[in-house]
Amino acid sequence: MSRDWALAAPCHGQDGFTPSEDDWNTGADLKRLCGSQLAACGPCPFRAVCIATVKPAQAKFDGIAGGRLWCNGEVIAALDDVFEDELTEPKLRASCGTEAGAQDHKRHGERVCPSCRQAEREMAQRRREEKAKRPGQLQLDFATT
Ligand code: SF4
Ligand SMILES: [Zn+2]
Repeated sequence: MSRDWALAAPCHGQDGFTPSEDDWNTGADLKRLCGSQLAACGPCPFRAVCIATVKPAQAKFDGIAGGRLWCNGEVIAALDDVFEDELTEPKLRASCGTEAGAQDHKRHGERVCPSCRQAEREMAQRRREEKAKRPGQLQLDFATT
């Protein structure tokens, strides 16, 4: 995907948006270090795409993105006119080797990877075993297999 928007953003070429970890310890330090840069995001038309790209909450980001100052992935300061819907980050995918991972593969039109397929098989097997333990269900199971 093109990152042309980043070149056109007000922060392009400016320092102080992501301070080095050595320079701060607390949220108050971060505010002191880059609080004043927040104003650059004011006229920026790319706040939503900025957040979608940086994924500050997921990445436990420290610094300025999308009109907010983040510390360990949480907003500690924001411009007055920020919108909730700018905060939508792409959903985290389930890890591989789980049944949810297999579902995510299918949802994205991908081939289910071996470890997810294995997890799926194990879960199906476990469910069959659970069912078999319930006497009332036995006949039904046999009838359908
Ligand atoms: S929202 Fe702020 S940090 Fe993000 S691109 Fe715009 S100016 Fe830069
Ligand atoms: Zn997988």
